[in-house]
Amino acid sequence: MLLREVEYARPSSVDEAIALLSTHEGARALAGGQTLVNVMKARAAAPEVLVDLRDLDDLRAIGFSADGMLEIGAMVTYAELMASSEVEVARPIVAEVASTIADVQVRNRGTIGGNVCVSDPTNHLPPLLVALDATFTIRGAGGERTVSAEDFFLGVYMTAVAEGELLTKISIPASSGAGDGFAGVTVGAHGTYVANAAATVSGGDARVVVGCVAAFPVRAAEMEERLAGSDFSEEAVRSAAQGLGTTLDPPSDVHGSSDYRRHLAEVSAVRAVLQAAGRRK
Ligand SMILES: Cc1cc2nc3c(=O)[nH]c(=O)nc-3n(C[C@H](O)[C@H](O)[C@H](O)COP(=O)(O)OP(=O)(O)OC[C@H]3O[C@@H](n4cnc5c(N)ncnc54)[C@H](O)[C@@H]3O)c2cc1C
Repeated sequence: MLLREVEYARPSSVDEAIALLSTHEGARALAGGQTLVNVMKARAAAPEVLVDLRDLDDLRAIGFSADGMLEIGAMVTYAELMASSEVEVARPIVAEVASTIADVQVRNRGTIGGNVCVSDPTNHLPPLLVALDATFTIRGAGGERTVSAEDFFLGVYMTAVAEGELLTKISIPASSGAGDGFAGVTVGAHGTYVANAAATVSGGDARVVVGCVAAFPVRAAEMEERLAGSDFSEEAVRSAAQGLGTTLDPPSDVHGSSDYRRHLAEVSAVRAVLQAAGRRK
């Protein structure tokens, strides 16, 4: 289906983009367009103005902050994450997971900012960024604020980015010895996840986050508590994951029943933690 008529703006600075977004009712940021253009074609969204972020070099940078955080601009594409030496050094799991998103066309155009702003519960990056304890920087006419990944995702297609605001960058602590893992079951190779989990293990502690089981990523708090100080043996990790499914209330859909997702959540959490602990590839 063809797009409805829509105004198009291509600002050359972040301030100009924010001015356009905050002064035009019905204006929407356009990043890679891999979700937005599709929902516009399906008539599920009908913005009056598209504010294309592609010329905003400030949003395309990957680097390090003074305190050693990996900083990724919102307009960095999955392909750029995969090619980045900074990501490779600081947190290679980000590139590994990006490399499994959909196909080469989507990876060439889709952006880390678009992936999180769309807050689709089946997207790859939200649970990973919660597990990595990332921080999101949001800018609006009133200034800049930061939000933890855990507070960023509010629901399906709902995030802490308010109307007239832009997500500008995502900051991720460099690993400094932490191990990371990501596992799940997809619909076909490189397809959408039915359920997934991300984990980090640092010292004797783990952060474990499950995706596709609710409107936003869910911390597996009980499993984390049971893992504290553990030896992260397969037996210990499996035992810590027991009962995780019963704490979740995932939806049923064409890809799997609620019970199947509960089961997959447990299996994925075990695999992600074992990978993070270096006990599984
Ligand atoms: C065939 C296909 C399969 C896919 N499979 C998967 C998959 O398995 N896993 C997965 O994770 N993703 C998948 N995707 C989605 C893809 O990853 C999209 O790239 C992503 O969801 C949106 O990123 P985008 O850069 O294209 O954003 P856009 O589509 O341009 O924007 C998405 C939304 O975010 C808003 N937005 C974007 N950037 C900003 C910003 N900086 N500040 C504020 N708001 C912003 C836009 O206004 C819009 O509402 C798939 C896409 C396609 C087409």
